[in-house]
Amino acid sequence: MSNTKPIWEIVDSKKPAFIELSDSVWDNPELLYREHKSVALHRQRLQEEGFRIVDRVAGIDTAVMGEAGDGGPVISILGEFDALPGLSQVAGIDEQKPLEKGGNGHGCGHNLLGAGALLAAVAVKQYLAANNIPGRVRYYGCPAEEGGAAKTFMVRDGVFADVDAALSWHPTAFSGIIPPLTLAVTMIDFRFSGRASHAAVSPHLGRSALDAVELMSVGVNYLREHVPQDARMHYAVLDSGGRAPNVVQSEATVRYSVRCLKSADLDALLERVKDVARGAAQMTGTKVDWNVVTAMSEVLDNPPLYKLLHKNMMELGPTPFDEADREFACRMQATMSPDDIEAAYLGAGVPQGDAPICDIIVPLETRGVPMLGSTDLGDVSWVVPFAQAGSATYAIGTPGHSWQVTAQGKTPAAHKGMVHVAKALAATAIDLFTDPVHLEAAKADLHKRVSSTPYVSPLPGELKPQVPA
Ligand SMILES: [Zn+2]
Repeated sequence: MSNTKPIWEIVDSKKPAFIELSDSVWDNPELLYREHKSVALHRQRLQEEGFRIVDRVAGIDTAVMGEAGDGGPVISILGEFDALPGLSQVAGIDEQKPLEKGGNGHGCGHNLLGAGALLAAVAVKQYLAANNIPGRVRYYGCPAEEGGAAKTFMVRDGVFADVDAALSWHPTAFSGIIPPLTLAVTMIDFRFSGRASHAAVSPHLGRSALDAVELMSVGVNYLREHVPQDARMHYAVLDSGGRAPNVVQSEATVRYSVRCLKSADLDALLERVKDVARGAAQMTGTKVDWNVVTAMSEVLDNPPLYKLLHKNMMELGPTPFDEADREFACRMQATMSPDDIEAAYLGAGVPQGDAPICDIIVPLETRGVPMLGSTDLGDVSWVVPFAQAGSATYAIGTPGHSWQVTAQGKTPAAHKGMVHVAKALAATAIDLFTDPVHLEAAKADLHKRVSSTPYVSPLPGELKPQVPA
């Protein structure tokens, strides 16, 4: 493992600017579709590195693409840079302390994700040029992963139509591939309308939309027992119809996320949820209509590409964390519960050990207890062969979407994890450019899957990305 590869050396030679980029994005945490500073920082790096730039990809203000190289196949590396609300946190300390009360924070590590992906693309560009290899590398700066499903819109817009393979990564507790097991999801708002009335004087004239929302949740909670085991249904009341108990609520809106393992089963489940909404409307004498906010497909497996990515991670070996990294990870672990730490090992499927930060590469065939979320990378994986790496950037047990992730977003360990995975992504891209066997196998695998189950965009045709006011 002590051997080095030219592509890894290019990554190392380029890394300072990308560590700075990651830290600058961390310093400017922006929410979905509002990532104006972050995308400008990424664009500036693309420009300085000599990429051909496309702004406003798929008509989205905060999406950017940079391409380099000529001819040959197109390999894309996907980055993200959006933050989360309420996760503002001082960097590098082991206690919860917001930088700005109620402010945004990089509680999913997308500052690292974007900069690491771009670093990989930049290294590939240099390698292709230095070795006269035909091929084009593209970096896609993708906004709004958190709640905006920007990539699903980009896929619908045909952005990846001429791409031959796509790679990405995510900060994690354990280094290895990220198993392609996620849920398809549709986020949908149900709006009930009834009739306002004085709740004491003339209750019989009122038709309560809030009653309908409540009855709908009762119905869905009974439905829960009779749906596939991996289905998830959760809701938030966006508008309960007003603050006065003596006015019958004439309008109320509830947002549902309905998820299950396969897109193909999601429509049927969603139809049953709509039936519950119709029933609630009928019971209360209200009307209901609904609109889809976002939707994402599940990630499709691509064993040839995942194997290739894993091979490159194994050649690199574990991230070279040092004693100071381990000492800080230990202090962070003291902020977590034993359950958090145990869940991390169960999730990765590796036996519990003492290391506070990952010192292994999780074997390819290891499957832990899947953590079933959803990602808009799912839709990418249906139209182009796709694989995703996980790279350890924080202490084992760090909960997802937490102040602890934000706190560890600028540490030396985080930077090492980011640079390390950039080497694996770049080396995988080079393998794809230089040995056609890999691309053929990855494409054949995708072709086989979508021939039996063709891809259908989960987005209603006319739906546009919902940019928050
Ligand atoms: Zn994330």
